[in-house]
Amino acid sequence: MLDIEKLLEELTLEEKAGLCSGGDQWHTKAVPRLGIPALKLSDGPHGMRTFDDTGKVIKAVCFPTGSALAASFDVNLAETIGAALGETAKSTGVHTVLGPAVNMKRSPLCGRNFEYLSEDPVVAGEMGAAMVRGIQSKGVGACPKHFAANNQETRRMSSNSNVDEVALREIYLTAFENIVKKSKPHTMMCAYNRVNGTYCCENEHLLTDILRNDWNYDGIVMTDWAAMNDRPKAVAAGLELEMPSSFGENDRRIVNAVRSGRLSMEALNEAVRRLLTWIDREMEGAKDAALGYDMDAQVKLAQYAAAECGVLLKNNGILPLTKGKKIAFIGGFAKRPRFEGGGSSHVMVENCPSALDCAAMISEITYAKGFSTAEDMSDSTLHAEAVCAAAKAEAAVIFAGLPASFESEGHDRTTLAIPECQNRLIEAVCEVQPNTVVVFHAGSPVIMPWRDKVAAILFMYLGGQGVGKASVDLLFGEKNPSGKLAETFPLRLEDTPAFLDFPGMENEVRYSEGIFIGYRWYEKRKIPVQYPFGHGLSYTSFRYSNLQIDQEYMQDVDRCQVRVDVTNTGSQFGKEVVQLYVGPVREKTYARTVKELKAFAKVALEPGETKTVAFDLNKRAFAHFNLRLNGWYVEKGTYRISLGSSSADIRLDTEVHVVSTDTLPVRYSEYMTVGDLWDSGLDVAEAMEVMKTQKLDLSAVGLEADKMERAVHMEEVKRGMPLHATVSMSQRNMEEVYNALRRIEGLEGKESIPHWN
Ligand code: BGC
Repeated sequence: MLDIEKLLEELTLEEKAGLCSGGDQWHTKAVPRLGIPALKLSDGPHGMRTFDDTGKVIKAVCFPTGSALAASFDVNLAETIGAALGETAKSTGVHTVLGPAVNMKRSPLCGRNFEYLSEDPVVAGEMGAAMVRGIQSKGVGACPKHFAANNQETRRMSSNSNVDEVALREIYLTAFENIVKKSKPHTMMCAYNRVNGTYCCENEHLLTDILRNDWNYDGIVMTDWAAMNDRPKAVAAGLELEMPSSFGENDRRIVNAVRSGRLSMEALNEAVRRLLTWIDREMEGAKDAALGYDMDAQVKLAQYAAAECGVLLKNNGILPLTKGKKIAFIGGFAKRPRFEGGGSSHVMVENCPSALDCAAMISEITYAKGFSTAEDMSDSTLHAEAVCAAAKAEAAVIFAGLPASFESEGHDRTTLAIPECQNRLIEAVCEVQPNTVVVFHAGSPVIMPWRDKVAAILFMYLGGQGVGKASVDLLFGEKNPSGKLAETFPLRLEDTPAFLDFPGMENEVRYSEGIFIGYRWYEKRKIPVQYPFGHGLSYTSFRYSNLQIDQEYMQDVDRCQVRVDVTNTGSQFGKEVVQLYVGPVREKTYARTVKELKAFAKVALEPGETKTVAFDLNKRAFAHFNLRLNGWYVEKGTYRISLGSSSADIRLDTEVHVVSTDTLPVRYSEYMTVGDLWDSGLDVAEAMEVMKTQKLDLSAVGLEADKMERAVHMEEVKRGMPLHATVSMSQRNMEEVYNALRRIEGLEGKESIPHWN
């Protein structure tokens, strides 16, 4: 154990500054004279990308990438995979794992969406928290990333996410908040970009006001690699560690800033105290580290996980395929599946069995390459061979997918289209073979113009190294598909929420869609989609019944239990992802979403079996972030609780009346509107007293009590007028204004409103 307070006395200013940045690419700095060791950090979110002492990559197991894992909607699985990452880290000398990556999918074009979990903050938060729990259960630190509003790769190191506070809190920060509160990550990684004008690394609002003060975060924050701007400013804002090494340059800047008084010694000491606490934590966790781990068990876990993540988008009954039949496997991805994305999350695997390898033992399989998996280039010979193979078989399975260069860290996609050569081949195969199934490998949504023509679509995402076996298990019914989309598949790029503002103008990105991303957008705008959020089919069917709400809650919004029975009504074992959504029945004062996912559960059922699924909702499930309160606020009223198999397939719903105890502060001034004054609940005379105590001289705005009373009885159009404007608008004295208002009241029901002056 380090004696942190003693070390703080013994460390020189230079040593303290030195601890605030990396020693090299993957290590922090040691201070040997005081026994402070260097920690080792490694990517990544779905497999360990680490190096031995000679710099050689160490092979590891690749699990499904973020978008795939989220589709499992299985928090236990996420935790188990987290534990496997922790185990691998520990046995390879890694103290902190750089993941999970939990940024929101604002646009399906973000090149890194394959690494991110969802367009929904509850899914990303729950799955992310589970991964952190798993990683840290092995005594290794986790590092949720990238904090915050890092939703595109274009100019990722300089872009400025202009996002309003409500969207920030409700959409972009919620997953991080959930993770911090539920799983206490040892570290967090700040994003490259700026948020509302300030780089994340030096953003006091994010790092101190919200992360530490609101959420009580007790770990350290490190930069993304090379995401440092002004080092002393970042220390003051709450950023402890710059990664990787700045070769002493930024250490010197910290020293100079302290000497010149620009940075306080207290701020530096606080950063070092937190760094030492983290180092101590990770060293404690590493104490019982043993070399090696059971890689075979992890490979099996990767296979199991890949099957849990596959989403059956469509099935006209062709799936599961009958074993022993003559089936044509078409497409190079059948031979070499695309199982991971490019960039820092790349994992070096031992091997990745293909669907072709795995299916050979089950059925009579013919194979035709069909198209190039590396680019969009037509090859008429490959195309013709594939069509011919499909025609000769009893069914065709086309393994289509995005080429690796189409989606990667570092650049965004420009289209949702898949290579045209693949579209053409799928259409041609459908012409000759009615039993055509498409298995798709991609990290994010694509447009499938042929989806009405094919018999089935199995979306395997980038399912990790087990994806080949998992595809075959799902195709032939060894496993029953249970994945659901954690993101919407739109019909057109033009329909997507950020279409007009992605990737922004030069460095400026306006998040003009606010809280309306993903299904929140499509539902509100009533825009049809290819496949809705939460969609995913099964080989069995489920019935929802007996929805019950614990009424106790109605007295106070702090607790609400929702229970529903789910029955497997089909003839085989299956798993259902039960989704709970909440939405206001009537939109009142605020522009709200139609509904939002607040809880989910994956339930396994034998044929005929029924299980009761219970969800505990707290106040937050009914709250929105209110600017007037600068906090979470529940508006009283009626809310609909919907239980469904997808956002578009609601099976049961009910209404609850929420008696909120929250109140909004009222700020009295001449700038408040007549309507706000009225809604404040005070009678006008009282309101005027309050204004007086706030040193606002009412005579300055020319209003007197009895006249105000008449003003607040005006119809809605006048409710929006600030008090001072009632004076200014008249250009006359108040008596005349009120005479005019009286006249308007007299015009009730008439179409035109006369000018007041
Ligand atoms: C990525 C991070 C990653 C880091 C270290 C950066 O480019 O954005 O997610 O952890 O590199 O590899």
